[in-house]
Amino acid sequence: MQQDLLNTAIEYLKGVGPKRGELLRKELSIHTFRDLLYQFPYRYVDKTRFQKVRELHEDMGDVQLKGILRRLSKTGEGRKRRLVGRFRDDTGYIDLVWFTGVHWLEKKLQVGAEYVVYGRVNQYGGQWSMAHPEMELLSEEKTATPKTFEPVYTSTEKLNAKGLDTRARRKLMHHLFEKLSPEDFPENLPAYIMEKMKLAPHALAMYRIHFPRNQKELDRVSLRLKFEELFFLQMRLLQLKKRRKKEIKGFVFSSIGDHFNQFFHEKLPFELTGAQKRVLKEIRKDLGQGIQMNRLLQGDVGSGKTIVGLMTMLMAIDNGYQACLMAPTEILAQQHYNSISNYIEGLGLKVAFLSGSVKGKKRKLILEELAEGEIHILIGTHALIEDPVVFKNLGLAITDEQHRFGVAQRAKLWKKSRPCPPHVLVMTATPIPRTLAMTLYGDLDVSVIDELPPGRKPVKTIHRTENHRLRVIGFMKEEIAKGRQVYVVYPLIEESETLDLKNLEEGYEALTREFPLPEYKISVVHGRMKPADKDYEMQRFARAETQIMVATTVIEVGVNVPNASVMVIENTERFGLAQLHQLRGRVGRGAEQSYCILMSSFKISKDGKERIQTMVRTNNGFDIAEADLKLRGPGNIEGTQQSGIINLRIADLATDGRILQTAREIALRVLDDDPPLERPEHQGLKGYLEKYAKQVKGWSRIS
Ligand code: ADP
Ligand code: MG
Repeated sequence: MQQDLLNTAIEYLKGVGPKRGELLRKELSIHTFRDLLYQFPYRYVDKTRFQKVRELHEDMGDVQLKGILRRLSKTGEGRKRRLVGRFRDDTGYIDLVWFTGVHWLEKKLQVGAEYVVYGRVNQYGGQWSMAHPEMELLSEEKTATPKTFEPVYTSTEKLNAKGLDTRARRKLMHHLFEKLSPEDFPENLPAYIMEKMKLAPHALAMYRIHFPRNQKELDRVSLRLKFEELFFLQMRLLQLKKRRKKEIKGFVFSSIGDHFNQFFHEKLPFELTGAQKRVLKEIRKDLGQGIQMNRLLQGDVGSGKTIVGLMTMLMAIDNGYQACLMAPTEILAQQHYNSISNYIEGLGLKVAFLSGSVKGKKRKLILEELAEGEIHILIGTHALIEDPVVFKNLGLAITDEQHRFGVAQRAKLWKKSRPCPPHVLVMTATPIPRTLAMTLYGDLDVSVIDELPPGRKPVKTIHRTENHRLRVIGFMKEEIAKGRQVYVVYPLIEESETLDLKNLEEGYEALTREFPLPEYKISVVHGRMKPADKDYEMQRFARAETQIMVATTVIEVGVNVPNASVMVIENTERFGLAQLHQLRGRVGRGAEQSYCILMSSFKISKDGKERIQTMVRTNNGFDIAEADLKLRGPGNIEGTQQSGIINLRIADLATDGRILQTAREIALRVLDDDPPLERPEHQGLKGYLEKYAKQVKGWSRIS
């Protein structure tokens, strides 16, 4: 085996050389033969088949047709001049259109002759057309036998300019494969897995992914490589999880003590749901084991995660440790502080609040008391993880709505206690599709609260356009007359912040006309306000001193005002699904029937429409997350970019969920049956995994 051949620098490949090598490195990060090999084609040109005009449909991309060129005509003058050819097969006709080379083409093309045309089709006013098609004249000796199935590679303008277009890339691939032999691709999966999954061999797949002969072969080798990719990813994540459990010690919280019991028996204002009880049991089990807990708590908006977090903190305190809770915004942190202070009033515990806005003497005092251990619970924003914040003995760190925190920020929390890192509970209300959770959090334990507190009525969601506005206002008035409160939310997207602010201000003014003083009072909260002002307005709304809250998405996460029963969202088409779901979660928190009114203009994009329809159709956060993943692809789901995990070569988390599921199950079984991977049949796998692990070091710890 030529072990090092694949590590050869790219410029030594025939047809590359120093200049092109430099370019490949810069433009595509291709440094070695291996890198070139692993940049798979992003699509294929299928010239093995002819389509029929009648079968054409949108999203077909490039197609190949065979037929007769019936007519050629010139239209337009000057720069608008174009040549149009009518092209007919036995099922219908399309227009071929050229904007350049008109004169030359007119002379060259033969009306009445049979051609094969290849290109992208578009439909316009019911008529199909193809601009600048590749044309091939058929003659008696050149019959129309379908030919090749060609790979298309990612390129850039610079590469194209230097002649490294897709055709040149194909040639490079050929040169590369001339140098390689199957021994350069040792099989990395054991035979029993290959048989079970009916997988193509690794070596074959690596070649045929570049040069498949037809769609069927491409499907087979893609499956092989997708499985392989997801399988090794899961193997790695599961190994990390096992290792972490073995190596990273945790404080032992052995007992349930007075504070927990007193709270449970005297303070808890409601019965816990079955799901809350189950999750608390899971957490308690983690905390007693002497291993660091690293648990993700998923639960839809309103499912009652806060109380679970609080009761976990009481376990820490009863065992002599401090706890902290970190939230992504000042408003949310403040709200947690208020509600937790209320819950535990009379238990004799000290709770403190810390954020960037706590300054001077107050801050100094908090930091002192924290270091002395006088403060039991610290709640706040990311100010908690700054260096001057020193705990006496932090035993538990909870982060809420964790998508907002970067990996590095969270890693800082780990260093806040000695000799072990604190137990970590990560709470998120943004449901993560199962496939993503399995990769993003593959090395965390996951608990799910899949049950809402009893008595909740699902929020009714309605789509309304501008011409319904008067009715919407009438409806808001009815609800307010019943004593309820209303949110009106405007989008805020960074690039158009000024414009959005204007929208909000105009909206606010319009509302003050419809809802005049003294009968109605309106609060406003937006991102440009000082934290103290925001907080003041939030508090007024929370105390029901105002009936309407006009806001940008700052209220998106976590805000809890159970008396609010109507959520009106303006320009709904501009929000993402996850955001919309969060926003809707602000209502439906009390016993009253609540409503979410999605306002949009009449004309919206297809995606926008689909998002709105999804919201109207379902209240289930997981369904919404799945829909979101399908619409946007995994790279755009919050929290994924920073992890780097999603840089998959060939598998697609949005569509390959089933392969992932199987890959994970098989990986689990392998590690259960043969943890050290000692068996002979696992040697190929083990060797590959070790190499692979080196490549993906970067994301080894996500918590
Ligand atoms: P989230 O999971 O979105 O953070 P919260 O913890 O804010 O949800 O809880 C939402 C509301 O439900 C709060 O008003 C809380 O007091 C209430 N709640 C939580 N658990 C229960 C329960 N078991 N029974 C009744 N109400 C509950
Ligand atoms: Mg919450």
